[in-house]
Amino acid sequence: MTDQYCVIGNPVEHSKSPWIHARFAQLTGQDLRYEKRLVERDAFARSVQAFRAEGGKGCNVTVPFKFEAASLTARQSDRARLAQACNTLRFDGPDVFADNTDGVGLVSDITRNAGIDPAGRDVLLIGAGGAAAGVLGPLIEARPRRIVVANRTQAKAVLLIERHAALAAKHGVRLEAPALHEVRDGFHVVINATASSMIGAAVPVPPSVLRPGALACDLMYGSAAQGFVEWAQGHGAKARDGLGMLVEQAAEAFLIWRGVRPPSAQVLAELRATLA
Ligand code: NAP
Repeated sequence: MTDQYCVIGNPVEHSKSPWIHARFAQLTGQDLRYEKRLVERDAFARSVQAFRAEGGKGCNVTVPFKFEAASLTARQSDRARLAQACNTLRFDGPDVFADNTDGVGLVSDITRNAGIDPAGRDVLLIGAGGAAAGVLGPLIEARPRRIVVANRTQAKAVLLIERHAALAAKHGVRLEAPALHEVRDGFHVVINATASSMIGAAVPVPPSVLRPGALACDLMYGSAAQGFVEWAQGHGAKARDGLGMLVEQAAEAFLIWRGVRPPSAQVLAELRATLA
């Protein structure tokens, strides 16, 4: 029987995950179906239950359910526990295993697809919502010299770095959480993990944060990321949208479910061509 997977979210119509996983399955010879499920905001846990009862093998979780997904099960990866947010659930018989592949997806995109090694560099992570929480742990594991987490609501960034203090100490990474308006000095890697591009708001930091030749990534993709991409390129940075992270986090979820790593660079190139 064909194994069933889905992405659960609200909204979810825009999701490219069914296309990505269908292509991964074709290229690796895996027999699976992957669909989108739009779920009412108070019905997440019920919907996961229903999908399992139908024989579902696992699901991705997107906005606004990543935090709730983390409270569904005690069986979590270390990175999901640190993030307190999950984007991947695997159903193991009566048990549910929860993981967060967003951060490893972003780090894979930066290192493999953009060819930048964050080790020893200065990184600015803007935002302290679900996406930022998911990426901070894997960013620390990439061993930059320093990560500055700056968020509009500073207290959330402070909590986030406090939660990651032990991991940062283990890897010798300096963590700071200044007020957003105080961030001015230059970084090698700048990551916009806020919703600014999604809502059409201005880039929330000045261009001085971009060192010459910096890599600037927005987690948003498509036309909504265009403003950030133009801002970064206009100030001499290499710009990247979130499409690579999207494909790489999906590849990691596919590995968790199927035990096979799909050819993510090929699928990213195909997806970019499809969307162009
Ligand atoms: P979230 O949990 O709602 O957090 C939103 C964040 O954006 C908060 O830090 C918020 O600050 C900040 N923010 C909102 N409007 C802002 C503005 N005008 N100026 C400055 N900061 C602002 O959302 P999320 O799940 O973290 O998602 C953030 C972005 O990442 C979205 O664009 C999402 O599409 C993208 N994303 C992409 C991928 C991918 O695979 N490419 C994966 C996950 C997420 P406050 O705390 O002050 O409210």
